[in-house]
Amino acid sequence: MTKVGRKLCWVGVNASRLLLAATFVFSGMVKVVDPRGTQYKLEDYFLAFGWSGWMPGFLPLWLAVALAVFEFCLGVYLFFGIRRRMTTRLYLLFLGVMTPLTLYLALADPVSDCGCFGDAVTLTNWETFGKNVVLLLLSVVVFRSYRLMSRFVSERNQWTISLYSIVFALVLACYSLYTLPVFDFRPYHIGANLPEGMVVPEGEEEPVYQTTFVLEKDGVRKEFPLEDYPEDTAWHFVDSRTVTVSEGYVPPIHDFSIVTWPEGEDITEAVLADSGYTFLLVSPYLEMADDGDIDRVNELYDYCQAYGYSFYCLTASGDEMISRWQDFAGAEYPFALTDDITLKTMVRSNPGLVLLKGGTVYGKWGCHSFPKVEDLNVPLEESEWGTLRSDSRMMTTLRVVLWFLVPLFVFSLVDRLWIGGKMYKRKKHRDSITNLLNKRKMRKKIVAGNWKMNLNLQEGVALATELKNALAADQPNCEVVICTPFIHLASVAQVLEGSVIGLGAENCADKEKGAYTGEVSAAMVKSTGAQYVILGHSERRAYYGETAEILKEKVNLALANGLKVIFCIGEVLEEREADKQNEVVKAQLAGSLFDLTAEQFSNIVLAYEPVWAIGTGKTATAEQAEEMHAFIRATIAGKFGAEAAENVSILYGGSCKPTNAKEIFAKPDVDGGLIGGAALKCADFKGIIDAWKA
Ligand code: PEP
Repeated sequence: MTKVGRKLCWVGVNASRLLLAATFVFSGMVKVVDPRGTQYKLEDYFLAFGWSGWMPGFLPLWLAVALAVFEFCLGVYLFFGIRRRMTTRLYLLFLGVMTPLTLYLALADPVSDCGCFGDAVTLTNWETFGKNVVLLLLSVVVFRSYRLMSRFVSERNQWTISLYSIVFALVLACYSLYTLPVFDFRPYHIGANLPEGMVVPEGEEEPVYQTTFVLEKDGVRKEFPLEDYPEDTAWHFVDSRTVTVSEGYVPPIHDFSIVTWPEGEDITEAVLADSGYTFLLVSPYLEMADDGDIDRVNELYDYCQAYGYSFYCLTASGDEMISRWQDFAGAEYPFALTDDITLKTMVRSNPGLVLLKGGTVYGKWGCHSFPKVEDLNVPLEESEWGTLRSDSRMMTTLRVVLWFLVPLFVFSLVDRLWIGGKMYKRKKHRDSITNLLNKRKMRKKIVAGNWKMNLNLQEGVALATELKNALAADQPNCEVVICTPFIHLASVAQVLEGSVIGLGAENCADKEKGAYTGEVSAAMVKSTGAQYVILGHSERRAYYGETAEILKEKVNLALANGLKVIFCIGEVLEEREADKQNEVVKAQLAGSLFDLTAEQFSNIVLAYEPVWAIGTGKTATAEQAEEMHAFIRATIAGKFGAEAAENVSILYGGSCKPTNAKEIFAKPDVDGGLIGGAALKCADFKGIIDAWKA
């Protein structure tokens, strides 16, 4: 992939990630601040599916809190890039389940509003399905390329943000349950004027309903539309049905009515038009009401009586339950009937309290925070309860955001400082070593391991894990790469995630793709997460007939696929004995690399490996190595210029061990080692890596 292509990919993945994260943080947050709303929605679904009968009563609320916390945290994790693999998997799983489910809901329409954004944004079931399809596509993008997502917090400290998000969401959900939702998106929020919420604006169509009556006379049942209701009183009422003929405009408040109990008089208009104060004790079901503060309610009623304010208890419970409540609670206040869904929407507490004046909501209280009459020893007009507060939504938003963001910001700052401090220390240390070793050596120092055809998958993963831990505990002063057989790559890439160790393959095909049984292309190597590939190793030249021409193809394909190439060169014993090493090495360079551009060449690392020293225990002396490295650098300067020569890292390979590495690496043109046998033992390989330390 080209550089521009890679950049576009990065932008696409990160944009998808931010969009997904924002959606989940929002949908999680609107549920966190109103878990009861989600509970009611879940109950609607369970009822529609016929599951309510066997479901334990507490379950919908628990599920509502769990769903809210899950969505919110998933959003936060994706935003910060926390546990990227696991998080993107969870997105895929969640949306993979939700998308077909919402398609079913759109087709069957058991509940009209899905409730995915609580009361904040109402979507139809088809809109929800469309939204989920888009989110599913985005989650596929982030799942496939999760490694491209930048992290906003270090891997080591990500647990602080993970834990804080969970605790924050849980505490906020519990607080909203104990009091009332922190944000009230419903048409009954403080400051809302109920009559205004019932108005159908001019020009909007009113909904049309058709009511049919089932009447019976002389044992015969017949249906009559309202307009044909018979005048003959011999017909007796049996049942009635109302169907919506046309939806029309449905105002935010469309089902609010107050009918006195037991008289049956509709007093909705009178209550809403009352310019004085009216307290409404709201209890959808008295049988489920929290009775902890019923004495306080009675005191409040006495207070209303004393000052001439109206007071009603609105409920959807039946006659028997109301009578029982009157006896049990000693309630003298009047009762009135209202639809249960309306009551649940008005206030998320059972019982809850609503204060109205002139049809406007002046105050709302949950059952744990009813106003105390001791604090109300003055008329409402003179107390803060009776004063309409200005809309505090902005302030609440700010408070919640600050409560969440300030600690996060502090965590991130500490994290950044910690990382910065570590990096600074490491750099200082490295600088001092580099200065000590050789002031002229500004090139990248690399120690690369070549496992060859050794270690099964489990042994390879174990070795990579051991090395990762060893280097996490004792940071290296050079770049470390391990090159493994193809079958290890994907697993070792996972092990190495977040570590300083790079990963490479030992070979790749000289063809782009297609019917080349048993071959592995450069693109495939790259797709495992590897960054390097070894090419031109003497064993591949000798045993698999890899010519300069074949290697040229491989190098081009590796570079085109974004891999860095560790290109091996070196003479056999006969050639050295005939003093032909320079000639041989130059021909190897020219045959496979001299057609590259300087830019392509900047992704090449050279490894000088005298074949007579590989795996033989016979090492080139430090002087022999330096002599060849200097020659190679001069050859590169001749072809690609002084800058390219100065920048290219040239590694030495051939029976390199912890005991001889320091002496060889101290040479000015030696920039590290390509290690075979000694790379198969963590302690030996680490010993060689440590040769770069003072
Ligand atoms: C190698 O094969 O790249 C190599 C350097 O092997 P050894 O260290 O075993 O000589």
